[in-house]
Amino acid sequence: MKTTHENEHPNRLSRRDFLAVSTGAALLLSTDGFPEQLETGRAYLLPPLPYPGEALEPVISQRTLEFHFGRHHRGYVDNLNRLVAGTKLEGLSLKEIILETAEKADKASVFNNAAQVWNHTFYWHSLRPGGGGEPPEALKERIEASFGTVDACRKELAAAAAAQFGSGWAWLVQDGGKLRVTRTGNADVPFTAGLIPLLTIDVWEHAYYLDYQNRRGDYVEAVLDKLINWDFAAENLGG
Ligand code: MN
Repeated sequence: MKTTHENEHPNRLSRRDFLAVSTGAALLLSTDGFPEQLETGRAYLLPPLPYPGEALEPVISQRTLEFHFGRHHRGYVDNLNRLVAGTKLEGLSLKEIILETAEKADKASVFNNAAQVWNHTFYWHSLRPGGGGEPPEALKERIEASFGTVDACRKELAAAAAAQFGSGWAWLVQDGGKLRVTRTGNADVPFTAGLIPLLTIDVWEHAYYLDYQNRRGDYVEAVLDKLINWDFAAENLGG
């Protein structure tokens, strides 16, 4: 289903492709792990959602995904493409761009857009239809070693999501041999501080406002109960 438009802009997902995604028609994707393109290669893609657009209902509506993925995430990709075009950053991997521009005031726009592209793709994979429940055994043991119980870990994630003032992200991360919960503001990512991200929850208002208005806590609880993708977190565990 190549079109002229897609050939001119091979890294962009058209509105029509998004609708195809959201009706579950033609896809595009694998669910096995984080897209390789975020680790290596070009940074300019809008990676497809790993599920159809209605698949997270009723916790997250298709309408929220249409805006969140189709407008916000896509907007960050488009901004990044525009900002790095013709610069020495062009062609670096997304991670390299993030590490190269972090903490540099004159590169804040590039950092923010690159980090938001990375964060959103990581977030889509941190959710799955039919998620929640018990983590796979290997992850469960790591969680119990660090938090005592899976429920304690969940509660810390919910508390971090609630405590983040304004826009940001709640994370389960690996810090050396231990797991812990942390949060970042705006576009910030944990790996610039040497932490390995395992999963994240977006707590920008655009992630939940259409469905939950100001009730961030209800959104976070529903995500932890019904969508959180412990399998993805387990895949991200380091040694
Ligand atoms: Mn977002």
